[in-house]
Amino acid sequence: MDHFQLRDGVLHAEDVPLPRIAEEVGTPVYVYSRATLERHAKVFREGLAGVKDPHIAFAVKANPNLAVLKVLQRKGYGADVVSGGELTRALAAGMAPDKVVFSGVGKTHAELLQGLEAEIGQFNIESEEEGYELAAVARRHGYNANCALRVNPDVDARTHEKISTGKRENKFGVPLDRAAEIYGALAAEDGLTMRGVAVHIGSQLSTLEPLEVAFEKLGRLIAEIRAAGHAVTHADLGGGLGVPYKAGDTMPSPAEYGAMVARVTADWDVQLSFEPGRVIAGNAGVLLTRVIRTKRSGNGPPFVIVDAAMNDLARPAMYGAWHDFDAVEPSGERMTAHIVGPICETGDTFAMDREIDALSAGDLAVFRTAGAYGATMASSYNSRGFVPEVLVDGDKFAVVAERIAAHAIMDAEKVPDWLA
Ligand SMILES: *Cc1c(COP(=O)(O)O)cnc(C)c1O
Repeated sequence: MDHFQLRDGVLHAEDVPLPRIAEEVGTPVYVYSRATLERHAKVFREGLAGVKDPHIAFAVKANPNLAVLKVLQRKGYGADVVSGGELTRALAAGMAPDKVVFSGVGKTHAELLQGLEAEIGQFNIESEEEGYELAAVARRHGYNANCALRVNPDVDARTHEKISTGKRENKFGVPLDRAAEIYGALAAEDGLTMRGVAVHIGSQLSTLEPLEVAFEKLGRLIAEIRAAGHAVTHADLGGGLGVPYKAGDTMPSPAEYGAMVARVTADWDVQLSFEPGRVIAGNAGVLLTRVIRTKRSGNGPPFVIVDAAMNDLARPAMYGAWHDFDAVEPSGERMTAHIVGPICETGDTFAMDREIDALSAGDLAVFRTAGAYGATMASSYNSRGFVPEVLVDGDKFAVVAERIAAHAIMDAEKVPDWLA
């Protein structure tokens, strides 16, 4: 459930009519709802009622906006970060360092050191090589790193291939059949405390079964590592729960997920952590856009050309993803149209042959479920600048990321003297 609802014929974010935001901030603009974020954070936590003392780390890459992180920090969430930049953001949002988990296959020397200096809670090591490097950096600088070993369970998450991360051929984690041996080798390194194991098999999962298979494999690995004489006190089960992008889609609920986790992990005797991203932020945001014009196309449906484009919301171009598209002030009339942005790429298409609310030039509309992997994936392609972000709270709202205009990006460039 989200707080983007029609009231008296006008789409609101909580108590704020979206036309007000369009007028004051301009379009395109991402609009997030605090109440929705908090609701999702609560529902996810309640889903884990059967798990003792779970640690929940929001996957910052889903929505790294500082205000969004602050909302979640106030709800007791930690952060799962995958770069030094995300670590900086999590700490800036007030997240306790010991609630930060650092994942990612390509942490640089500088990023490893940054994590050590911040004394983060856990490094999720994604290769044997990374483990040795982290140990060396930790020893050289006088730190000790708490670590989990991320394993690749070779499970097909049955999601889009570009967001599947748990198959043998994906770059993430160490192979399950070598994991116990690598864990043992790293446990012998000064500078590291190997304390757990981690999995994350992909994103936008629409069934629990692949997760359950992966968790069962992880459970057997824990037993194997313990049998070899090493301690395992933590297990990180990653993120991945899908969200409904299309009205009527059904997804496993956090409660069903939590019940499965409680059942599968009942005898693990570890502290569990979770890294939800999309399920927290996805339906807590919309991308508000204005129709520039409509264009007839031969005998086919017209093109509705909106002022948002693939640089603002990349998912449709990148993954062929579906976002529901609704008028802000629907008249009740419907039309079939292609929805496109202004960018000079055929890929800048949000939908083909879509039945939508009738729209004409100047009308406002939203792409729904744009709160995760939306603004964070934006680029300035076609010199369009970066789209602003707004957070709504009841009847008030604030710009939580300014629009970065095309000229501001140009200001960072220069023509060298020898060319002038
Ligand atoms: C992206 C990512 C997540 C979050 O995935 P969602 O599908 O958004 O829940 C969690 N953990 C890791 C390691 C990730 O890379």
